[in-house]
Amino acid sequence: MPGTLNYAPPVITIDVEDWPQSSWDRDLPITQRAADNARRLLDLLARTRVQSTMFVLGKLAERFPQLVREIDAGGHEVASHGFGHVEIFKQTRAEFAADLRKSKDLLEQILGKPVRGYRAPDFSIVRGSLWALEELAEQGFEYDSSIFPVKRPRYGIPDWPLSPTRVQLSNGKSILEFPIASYRAWGKNWPVGGGGYHRLLPGSAGRWFARRVMQSRPFVFYCHPYEFDPREFAELSVKIPLKVRLHQGLGRGRFASRFVNLIRQFGGCRMIDFVEQKVWPDFQLSSLSGSAASVAAPVGK
Ligand SMILES: [Zn+2]
Repeated sequence: MPGTLNYAPPVITIDVEDWPQSSWDRDLPITQRAADNARRLLDLLARTRVQSTMFVLGKLAERFPQLVREIDAGGHEVASHGFGHVEIFKQTRAEFAADLRKSKDLLEQILGKPVRGYRAPDFSIVRGSLWALEELAEQGFEYDSSIFPVKRPRYGIPDWPLSPTRVQLSNGKSILEFPIASYRAWGKNWPVGGGGYHRLLPGSAGRWFARRVMQSRPFVFYCHPYEFDPREFAELSVKIPLKVRLHQGLGRGRFASRFVNLIRQFGGCRMIDFVEQKVWPDFQLSSLSGSAASVAAPVGK
């Protein structure tokens, strides 16, 4: 139980989107199933009394504005997951700026309050798209949580700091970056912050990593409402190859119980609670500037 260790609760982040649209075909409409899954997760969080940060996809918010209000009414932080779920490295800076603006304007119009945080689709702020941090700061975002400091085929910046960092940008602004939780061992960083890793690792291993990370920095956990839905692939109307179904569906049946075990043991908080220093007020942010910040200069396409 919390109290025996001196740590802040995990930062619980949830990317609210629809699997077929976000991961299979960006042109598909958002389905009712996405809203149903999000509402089930809201119920679970209410029962366990944990508040989270929900990065809501604009395309989903457009179809289900009432769901966005329910997320906010539940005490969760509503942040942006962009509009169309196209990876940033596939967009020009102008395209990204427009997608970002559309999502922020929409959420702010629905809620009547500012949206302060952002997460990129598929962790697509990589070394070649660090210019996105400048665009985020220019549009008034206070923080970003898109960088995964691991080496993966499609995403990740393996030498990015593992702790939250204030990034000084070459446009004179700065932004707070909250990388997804990773754990350094045996000479490399392991992605222990949730998603597939949380589905596939034994629950006790996931909690062991969480505890280890929390000894020195916030544990930024991420998941999606569809990961709590084990029947999705059996009931989808779009045809998905077996290999993809196995990779994306494996472990969904035990995801809810693992998630509940994690938050029962450690609790959970919103990202904005950390930004506003309501949790871990004496945490020392590191800072990236000079040559590191010049990496963040716009490269465009
Ligand atoms: Zn996503």
